[in-house]
Amino acid sequence: EAFGFEWDGEVAYQSRRYALYEETLCRLKTAGLVYPCHCSRKDWQAGARRGADGFVYNGRCRHPGQRPALQGKQPAWRIRVPDRIIGFSDGIVGSYAQNLAGDIGDFVLLRADGYWAYQLAVVADDAEQGVTHIVRGQDLLVSTPRQIYLQQCLDVPTPQYAHLPLLTNAQGQKWSKQTLAPALDLNRREQLLRQVFRYLNLPEAPETDRPAELLDWAVAHWDMDKVPKHAITAP
Ligand SMILES: [Zn+2]
Repeated sequence: EAFGFEWDGEVAYQSRRYALYEETLCRLKTAGLVYPCHCSRKDWQAGARRGADGFVYNGRCRHPGQRPALQGKQPAWRIRVPDRIIGFSDGIVGSYAQNLAGDIGDFVLLRADGYWAYQLAVVADDAEQGVTHIVRGQDLLVSTPRQIYLQQCLDVPTPQYAHLPLLTNAQGQKWSKQTLAPALDLNRREQLLRQVFRYLNLPEAPETDRPAELLDWAVAHWDMDKVPKHAITAP
C-alpha cells in the first residue's frame, strides 16, 4: 500500500483453504497419480543425488511392496512424475524445461506434518481464481515445470509465465530478510521506485511524489523485451 500497489477482490488466505487443497489431492488420488510415503528425510536423502532443486527422490515408496512399514504416523503424499520433458516459453527467460523424473523426482503435495506443499497450493489457487498470467521472481522458475505437470494432471489451463530477475548482493545471494537485507526506507519511496524502473530498463519517469502516479506511468511504458534476463547485482 505504501508503494501504491493494489489487488483485486478479497485476499485469499492459504491457511483457510484446506477444503480446496483436500479436494485437489482427492482428484489426484482417484486418478491413481499419488501415493503415501513414510520415508523420513534422513532415510531417503542418504545416497540420493542432487537434481535441479535439492535431492532427487528415489521413488522408494512408489511400489506398495517396497514401502517401509507404517508406524502409526501420517504419511506424506507424493505424486508420480513422468520421464518426459516438460517445457514452456517464459516471457522473460525464454525456453525452460526439465525432465521431472531425472531433475526432481516424485514430489510432495501434502507433508507428513499436515502442511500443504507450495506446489499443490499455488496450482489449486491459480486454477480456482482463473489466473491467466503469472509474473514472479526467478527463484520460482525451477518450480514451474512441477506446477505445469500438476495443471496437466488436473486438466486445468497453464497460465503464461514471466520470471523477473532477482536483485542479488555482492555474494550473488538474493536480497531478502534471510540474507539480512535492510528494510526499505518509506521516506524514499519515489527514489526506490525509480531505482527499480532503472533495473527494468524503463525510460526516466517524470517528476512526481505520488508512488501510484509513478506506477501508472511505469505500466504505460512497460516493455517486457527490455527486462534483463538474469540476476541484477544491487549495491
Ligand atoms: Zn517413502
